[in-house]
Amino acid sequence: VIGPMEFQELANNFNEMNHNLQESFQKLHQSEASRKDLVANISHDLRTPLTSIQSFVEALQDHVIEDEETLRKYLKTIQLETQRISHLINDLFQLSQLDSGIYQHHPEPYHLDNLIVETLETLTFQIEKNKINIIVDMPNQIPAVFIDPYKIKQVLINLIQNALRYSRIGSTIKIKIEKLEKASVKVTLIDEGEGIPEKDLSSVFNRFYRVEKSRNRGHGGAGLGLSIAKSIVERHGGAIGVDSKLGEGSSFWFTLPKYQS
Ligand code: ADP
Repeated sequence: VIGPMEFQELANNFNEMNHNLQESFQKLHQSEASRKDLVANISHDLRTPLTSIQSFVEALQDHVIEDEETLRKYLKTIQLETQRISHLINDLFQLSQLDSGIYQHHPEPYHLDNLIVETLETLTFQIEKNKINIIVDMPNQIPAVFIDPYKIKQVLINLIQNALRYSRIGSTIKIKIEKLEKASVKVTLIDEGEGIPEKDLSSVFNRFYRVEKSRNRGHGGAGLGLSIAKSIVERHGGAIGVDSKLGEGSSFWFTLPKYQS
């Protein structure tokens, strides 16, 4: 015979189980929905450049091109669209690593000035092509940070590449590094680019989010770079954010934990 106390306990257990089950179903439903979204986005982002490549290749095959300038234009488009696909595949590969257990984090004490010099060297070609002035503002007493340098280099590349993409030729990008009170170091990238509308600011770190698709046409991004940067910074125990004024420029920042020896 079950007494009222036991009955109450059973009822409580049942309620809790029911609640947990409902929560699990909801999560499953959400992850299924976001998986479908992901697949739809990837399909779209692959199909667009592929269709364009296909039509240009067909035009080349059909010999409909009359002059050399048009021919060069077609080949340039094919090259850009191929680059776009390769960029997307690279981003997706990184995302899948971050999402799965494959992500390996190898933190070590590291000085950010070395990493910034290295990153700027990697991007020399794009910086020179866009005639961008780079100013690095870093006081001497910046402590070492505890990071996986390979991963944080990726964050710097994604942020600097965006600053390059969304800035005018000849403008300046400033990279500022400062020590914060709370055992961390802050890196800020300030550009004089087109800026981001206020309504989009809270969404730019979401996967596949792009501000007004039309204004980015030709820039080749799929809206993944900032979400990758956010995942990496957060795995380091840091934070990432942005301030921006449309038409004036943006300032992206992230923090990293200081190395405590
Ligand atoms: P994408 O590959 O499209 O650049 P990101 O995730 O790196 O994707 O950025 C998301 C969106 O945020 C971009 O499409 C762009 O609209 C906006 N954005 C990012 N960085 C900047 C910047 N420095 N200046 C202006 N807009 C930016």
